[in-house]
Amino acid sequence: MKSFQRKKYLPALIVCVCLLSGCTKGTSAKPISRTDTAMGTIIQQNLYVTGQTSQEDGQSIAADVSALIGHLESDILSWRLETSQICRVNENAGKPGKTEIPEEFAQEMKLIFEVSEASGGALDVTIADVVRLWDIDEYAAGEKADFQLPQQEAIKKALEDTGFERVTLEGNLISLPVGMKLDLGAVGKGLACGRIEKLLKERPEVTGAVISVGGSVLTYGEKPDKTPWKVGILNPDQPGSYAGYLNLSGQWFISTSGDYERYVEVDGKRYHHIIDPSTGYPADSGVSSVTILGNDGLLTDALSTACFVLGVEDGLKLVQEYEMMALFIDQEGNLFMTDGMEKYFQEAE
Ligand code: ADP
Ligand code: MG
Repeated sequence: MKSFQRKKYLPALIVCVCLLSGCTKGTSAKPISRTDTAMGTIIQQNLYVTGQTSQEDGQSIAADVSALIGHLESDILSWRLETSQICRVNENAGKPGKTEIPEEFAQEMKLIFEVSEASGGALDVTIADVVRLWDIDEYAAGEKADFQLPQQEAIKKALEDTGFERVTLEGNLISLPVGMKLDLGAVGKGLACGRIEKLLKERPEVTGAVISVGGSVLTYGEKPDKTPWKVGILNPDQPGSYAGYLNLSGQWFISTSGDYERYVEVDGKRYHHIIDPSTGYPADSGVSSVTILGNDGLLTDALSTACFVLGVEDGLKLVQEYEMMALFIDQEGNLFMTDGMEKYFQEAE
């Protein structure tokens, strides 16, 4: 079996943020930037703070954003770290009683399960065991070597322990049936963008920001020169180049899911990291990338994964139900958009 794995890499941004026209000349707002790695990806912050704010205070806001992401990863979302809420919920699967989770997180979980329902299970955060069986993220990142296709029997068995409809969530009490585990990889980055937006709202010094958490991006406020934020959508065929840009003013959330970042190739076939919960295999809907644009970070991320699994036709319907916008790029390079998206999307030349 011929297998190809990408070299160890710092996951490149699926969505790159361009601030080319963000010139601050003649204005008093100051640019602040910071780059971190967390949640298995790159976090890029570009903030503008009022002229009265010192560089130090501006940097300390960026540090607070980084600390928030660190908190989300280690205390709430990570399935790897024993300190996280998700780890605790997973450990308690099948045990009597329910696990209490923080109120805000419980609301977010409720929204996630609503998208699971609305997407007919295309988004299902209970497929952790199936995701671990493939472990594409780890192989693609070079953390593991010698990829082997999982046995069909093992996939079938792992699927038996999945199914979002078998989770009980009442208020902030949650319980999983025995054997089930949660993996919030599909929604964590967008959830983080939503929480960051709340943090920025408490900092009047921030006049504008664009923050990318891997493939999820938040735009906030405005640039000093009032030109739109420009968010690049990578070309799935050549991830070094852009298929186009979204020109956005004010507050937006953008999430992209694609098959071109985290994958392994075996005998010329690509196995990527988005699993179709109905088969246990990487989704094969003909889509190469889906970008969702909307006013809620968690939802844009949840929908980007769901739409990748559903494909263009059903994905477009789902996005419209949520009154959000989407751009699909299929494996032939064709573009499909919901109404409204063309107002923001500018194809690359
Ligand atoms: P990324 O994490 O690269 O931004 P996504 O938001 O599409 O991409 O999430 C993919 C991750 O979500 C996978 O790495 C895996 O952990 C998890 N996952 C894969 N397929 C599904 C699915 N159908 N439903 C829920 N989670 C999934
Ligand atoms: Mg997603």
